[in-house]
Amino acid sequence: SNQPIKWQRVLLKVSGEALAGDHSQNIDPKITMAIAREVAAVTRLGIEVAIVVGGGNIFRGSSWAGCSGLDRSSADYIGMLATVMNAIFLQATMESIGIPTRVQTAFRMSEVAEPYIRRRAVRHLEKGRVVIFAAGTGNPFFTTDTAAALRCAEINAEVVLKATNVDGVYDDDPRHNPQARLLDTLTYQEVTSKDLSVMDMTAITLCQENNIPVVVFNLNKPGNIEKAIKGERVGTLIGP
Ligand code: UDP
Repeated sequence: SNQPIKWQRVLLKVSGEALAGDHSQNIDPKITMAIAREVAAVTRLGIEVAIVVGGGNIFRGSSWAGCSGLDRSSADYIGMLATVMNAIFLQATMESIGIPTRVQTAFRMSEVAEPYIRRRAVRHLEKGRVVIFAAGTGNPFFTTDTAAALRCAEINAEVVLKATNVDGVYDDDPRHNPQARLLDTLTYQEVTSKDLSVMDMTAITLCQENNIPVVVFNLNKPGNIEKAIKGERVGTLIGP
């Protein structure tokens, strides 16, 4: 397409569920390879790509808290560790096709990955490396969507591209209401007031306060990641 490239630096959020695909294991290697290929295509155009990975395909703190006496913080630390597994898997996949990639963790795991250092992350991006941020924000009671908003603001990325298993945001639940319409655009206000389950409140509020647009789109449609990164119309755009 001849459409001009809109973004220079993007924050791609890949949820754990999206990574699972239809594979019987937690991670579908077809999905990680598809992500790697599409990210490779845009980095070749000079667009800088940082990624925040979720961990819900392996462990979600909130659903385990309370079980067998597990306190929320412990459960959340396990969840954060799950994101590190996804990050290393994704890094290995990217590097297998020649994309230089660094993983930075929100808490120290120095034998496995770099610690998160903002200036170093930015330097990697400037050198054309993909940076994967793992372990969320490093704090229990938060989500990787919030980590995506936070890192996006910190590294001055222009947009959060939220890759999911749905085409975007609907005006109603499409699984229960066949009449539900896919929305092209939404305001932050609409997301919070209508309680549309796009992102948690902390994440969407952080985006709103820092004027970060969010694009919600379907990772499973081939070419979508590339389109979203290039700023082409895909999914739902959330903004002021
Ligand atoms: N988590 C956390 N703090 C963070 C990010 C994540 O405690 O800053 C934990 C939390 O338990 C969460 C899990 O890590 O359930 C996996 O992250 P998330 O649910 O955001 O993954 P996704 O839904 O994107 O797959």
